[in-house]
Amino acid sequence: MVTFKGTKVVSGIAIGKLYVYKRPDRQISRTPVDDTKAQLQAFDEARQKAVLQLEELYESSVEYLGELSASIFVAQEMLLEDRQYIDYVKSRITEDKYNAAYSVVLASDEFSRLFSSIEDKYMQSHIADVKDVSERLLRILCGLESEMADPGEPCIFASDDFNAGDIVQFNRDNLLGLATMFGSPVSHASILAGTMGVTSVVGLGQEMLSIYDGRPAILNGIKGELIIDPDKRTLERMRRKQKEYEEQQRMLLLLKGKNNVTKSGKYINVYANIGSAEGVETALLYDAGGIGLFRSEFIYMESLTYPSEDDQFEIYKEVLEKMRGRKVIIRTLDLGTDKQASYFRPEKEVNPALGYRAIRISLAQPGIFKTQLRALYRASAYGNLDILFPLIISVEEVLNIKKVIREVTDELDAEGIPYSKDIRLGIMIETPAAVMISDKLARHVDFFSIGTNDLTQYTLAIDRQNPKLETYFSTMHPAVYKMIEMTVANAHKAGITVDICGEAAADLSHTQDYIDLGVDALSVSPAMVLPLRKKIRECD
Ligand code: PEP
Ligand code: MG
Repeated sequence: MVTFKGTKVVSGIAIGKLYVYKRPDRQISRTPVDDTKAQLQAFDEARQKAVLQLEELYESSVEYLGELSASIFVAQEMLLEDRQYIDYVKSRITEDKYNAAYSVVLASDEFSRLFSSIEDKYMQSHIADVKDVSERLLRILCGLESEMADPGEPCIFASDDFNAGDIVQFNRDNLLGLATMFGSPVSHASILAGTMGVTSVVGLGQEMLSIYDGRPAILNGIKGELIIDPDKRTLERMRRKQKEYEEQQRMLLLLKGKNNVTKSGKYINVYANIGSAEGVETALLYDAGGIGLFRSEFIYMESLTYPSEDDQFEIYKEVLEKMRGRKVIIRTLDLGTDKQASYFRPEKEVNPALGYRAIRISLAQPGIFKTQLRALYRASAYGNLDILFPLIISVEEVLNIKKVIREVTDELDAEGIPYSKDIRLGIMIETPAAVMISDKLARHVDFFSIGTNDLTQYTLAIDRQNPKLETYFSTMHPAVYKMIEMTVANAHKAGITVDICGEAAADLSHTQDYIDLGVDALSVSPAMVLPLRKKIRECD
């Protein structure tokens, strides 16, 4: 029995044979060519063919994946039209006299390198797109047709990495789980696995070799591990666990449509945290009462340049329309520290967590801020929108924000563009400063949302990103608890509501405490909505 540890992506337990998926072999030479014209033509034809394949993939998957998830293939199609990518390949052919296939390999490496130089794990989804699209082009250029991979019986599919295109071509009846040596939990392949509900673990390491092809295996998506050749006891234990898990899922789904109400009749809102328009579908699937935190910075991080007002408007509108009148709280840009965009390059900082981030950027660069606010206000006409501002430390900041909002609404009025007059304005309480003056801040806003991730980091002086300090990072440290207590008391004294949207909201061991404190709403990742509802219903 061998066990590989990785990163869990989609929960569940899959038991079956391991099927090591091998991509068709392709030979690419780097010998210089004379006929560059023929190579340019081959590249253009391959691009056209790839576009057709992606259109077909979109058509065939949109029904079971939903429009948002299937749009991955539309994004990849756009990459095939990307001028920079095309020019790079063509220059390698004309200037360096490389053949089309080798030029694509170079483009794939170059663009992946560019994205990976940005220290942000979310840029990895772009790397995955570049690699997917390049791989598709290479298969076409090498005359290899992609065909549906099917081991002929239900199996756990394993590979070095999967791309979104691979996954939708697998025979789903025989797809028990996905296990990869490398891969990222936020790649499009992982997002697809989540949408399809296929147990998935990434980053299991290079030792997970093809020698294990066909061997009995257990993929544990709850723990994030792959067991090969399990012994009898492990197999029995995991079968029991699998049954328990399935039973748990069935029980949770029975909670759909039920209230988040304690035994003593107290009602708590349970919302979902999302980072893209795609998250809405999962939030609705798990019956979230609304979106408690849409981290809008992900739109910026997934974009190659500042997203335009219209681009943002379309995304916000889509989220609001899909939520059909349920509450949607969108937080303005919270770039900085671990959340960077390729085009946004602030000066190197010694203490970035204490540096130029979040509302500090928005207020220092009002052009960026106004573009986002205009998009938000325009979208507000299509649903139930509240706006949240991150990392507030003073009343002045709130007054300055309101000044910019007035400029935006004056402009929209002058242009005759409709927007909601009922938007509530809220602030994140995630700094000790905000807690200490929460009585004053409460007079200027409509709601508070406590960000326990940053509040814990700043209260305890523990870097939230340093794994060595994980044991010290306690969201229930008495100091953090007192901060939350004080915030809730001051909010309620001023007659405003208070939510918790940091990860601690999903920690079920805190639920009773938060209810006792009188928190009005808890916002958690979509998959935690129903477990939290279950917990609330068990609380007093
Ligand atoms: C928080 O700090 O708790 C929070 C919700 O914001 P983020 O994790 O995006 O910083
Ligand atoms: Mg925060």
